[in-house]
Amino acid sequence: MRTRSLETEIIHAITKPDEKTRAVSPSIVPAVAYAFTDVESAIDTVMGKTNDVYYGRYGNPTIKLLEEKIAFLEQGEEALALSSGMAAISNALLCYLTSGDHVLVTKDIYGGTHHFLTVLAPRFGIEFDFVDCTDLEAVAASIKSNTKVLYIETPSNPSLTILDIKALSKLAHEQGLAVIVDNTFMTPLLQRPLDLGADLVVHSATKYINGHGDVIAGLVVGNKRDISFIRKNLMGDLGQNLNAWEAYMILRGIKTMAIRMKKHNENALAIAEFLNEHPFISKVNYPGLISHPQYELAQTQMEGMGGIVTFELKGDFDTAKRFLNQLELAMISFSLGDPETLVQHPASMTHASIPKSEREKFGISDGLIRLSAGLENADDIIEDLKNSLLIVSNELQKELSYSI
Ligand SMILES: *Cc1c(COP(=O)(O)O)cnc(C)c1O
Repeated sequence: MRTRSLETEIIHAITKPDEKTRAVSPSIVPAVAYAFTDVESAIDTVMGKTNDVYYGRYGNPTIKLLEEKIAFLEQGEEALALSSGMAAISNALLCYLTSGDHVLVTKDIYGGTHHFLTVLAPRFGIEFDFVDCTDLEAVAASIKSNTKVLYIETPSNPSLTILDIKALSKLAHEQGLAVIVDNTFMTPLLQRPLDLGADLVVHSATKYINGHGDVIAGLVVGNKRDISFIRKNLMGDLGQNLNAWEAYMILRGIKTMAIRMKKHNENALAIAEFLNEHPFISKVNYPGLISHPQYELAQTQMEGMGGIVTFELKGDFDTAKRFLNQLELAMISFSLGDPETLVQHPASMTHASIPKSEREKFGISDGLIRLSAGLENADDIIEDLKNSLLIVSNELQKELSYSI
């Protein structure tokens, strides 16, 4: 159990100096095969009776270090590192779901998760329903006799809706459902779903955990039984293992996660406050704003409000596009959680695979912009947004006066 603050543990827990070399940073061990002194110990390892590795597809010593570090930070029994966030999400869902089962899913989720559930999962007889998870009665009413899982993301992508993990887990467990939480936007520093009752936590480590935009990776954390099942029967057979080099990169990124998240939080709040006052912006979604509908819940559930801000321009699809095209510092990009401020237009980019009518039900309007606050100076980011808003609003005004 933890005694020191997470800020300290993030640097010191699990990753100790190497016993042989005294190296402070971990070694990269890319070996696929591991030798045993006798057949009996090889068998014990394959059966999971020892803590050793035996074949690269099921893990290696560098990956093991990453898994132990994440399990510790999320306060789970065990963790599994995979080749992408989507590998983590699909494996977590398939841990509990088989043909004939049903999964309840929160309304606005990551575009790839939506695609997996609506395109791939039904091919294997898995049913789904989207439900407004801010409404516990609606969730309870949507549970069917074959419902096995409640899948949520909080804050959600891109509406930044906050869901009550504790209340939802209690409700789900009373009905025998497992709860999976995508914790990508928060990291274990800002929110720990297992402590609140969730069964599995999934991460796209591609984002804040690695934090430098140079690795694609996923993580699943939960109890020993579920994680071993996924490792042996899903990840292993689907061949979605991570590799030693990328595990090392993530271990390196984790060391600065506390200071990075602090700066992401500060910058996002400053940006949200600026946008909230701007006459050309009709709506700002950020859980750190008092105007956010679940502000109170966010304050109790999260230890920081995160680096993502979404907002709506007074305008249409074209206005949103023009605004993005005028930005000079912020980059138009599909990812988030990087040192650089990244912006994108969900309706045409990350959530374009979701049909328009459904997108609107999820709160993804044509004028919605998602901004991932980087680690730059907040005033510089705000100046960039201000300039672009000025150019676009002037253009619109001119066009309006011509048309009159
Ligand atoms: C990026 C992302 C994913 C998918 O992760 P990949 O590493 O790209 O596969 C899943 N969930 C959320 C919230 C994300 O932002």
